[in-house]
Amino acid sequence: MSKSRVWTTIDFDRNGVQSDHAYVPYSPDHSAYGMIPVPMICIKGGDGPTALFIAGNHGDEYEGQVALLKLARELAGKSVSGRIIILPALNRPAVMAGKRNSPLDNGNMNRVFPSRADGGPTEMIAHYVSSVLFPLADLIIDLHSGGFSLDHLPLALARPGRTQDETAAIRKLLASFAAPVGMVTTGVGGGAGSTLYAAAEAVGIPALTTELGSGVTLSSEGLKIAETGLRRVLREYGIVPDYDLPDAAPTILMRSLGPQTSIYAAHAGHFEPSVRPGEVVEAGQIAGWLHHLDDVMAEPTELVFNATGMVAWRRFPTLSAPGDGLFGLMAEMDA
Ligand SMILES: [Zn+2]
Repeated sequence: MSKSRVWTTIDFDRNGVQSDHAYVPYSPDHSAYGMIPVPMICIKGGDGPTALFIAGNHGDEYEGQVALLKLARELAGKSVSGRIIILPALNRPAVMAGKRNSPLDNGNMNRVFPSRADGGPTEMIAHYVSSVLFPLADLIIDLHSGGFSLDHLPLALARPGRTQDETAAIRKLLASFAAPVGMVTTGVGGGAGSTLYAAAEAVGIPALTTELGSGVTLSSEGLKIAETGLRRVLREYGIVPDYDLPDAAPTILMRSLGPQTSIYAAHAGHFEPSVRPGEVVEAGQIAGWLHHLDDVMAEPTELVFNATGMVAWRRFPTLSAPGDGLFGLMAEMDA
């Protein structure tokens, strides 16, 4: 890969706690020699694996951001065996704007990986992660949530892996994180190979991502999954062996049923769902209705599932436009 233009004062080989930024060159009208400071913390002590923890890949997804802010402060007082690199606000311009995508270049960070050195700010940050931070990492967790538009069942997501060994390494990470539900996917939201965890899979680093909440609020349930999951991973990989945590139930493994079984809005309207994430539904079952806005006496469009499965997510806002995803399904993994 070409050399990143992003730089930092953090020395990843130095022991101790370092908190600085990844500085992304950005030269707008009001700041000729400006930088976008992306917060980054490196905590290192002795030999052991490197965990790379990321949130704020999408700016309006909060459980991961808050979990990492709390974890970074806590870890500063702990002795660690290995290295933890934490970026709690990866797409900082999007985080500061409270938006999914960057207001600077409209960049959707999780659709540009592994990215390029000379793109806009969003691409430059993604490229720094894949070209500089990936080679340091033995495991990666990229924390996402539903954000503005999704009501998501809290779960962890993982890619299948390219080989048996890689699949086993990813499954070990899933089991260590111990979310109640884990979904194996090949690109559920249209991200295909351009997401952070797909880019990690492509270079053989075990990675997982999450969906932890709904809308632009903070779910206490999702926050708890993130906080305990991260600590479990640090304990299981020997980086912070002394974490005292309760036993977790095994993760229930699911698979995405893919976009062919999702329901999309065929026209503009007000979306009235009749089922919620986590409910088991059958093919032919009514999912809800889409009420016409331009013809008040018209019957609403009946939304019907075309497959049997469990609702993984549904649209969060009521107002819907043609093509908006309204429901997505998953099913239990075959043994
Ligand atoms: Zn996201």
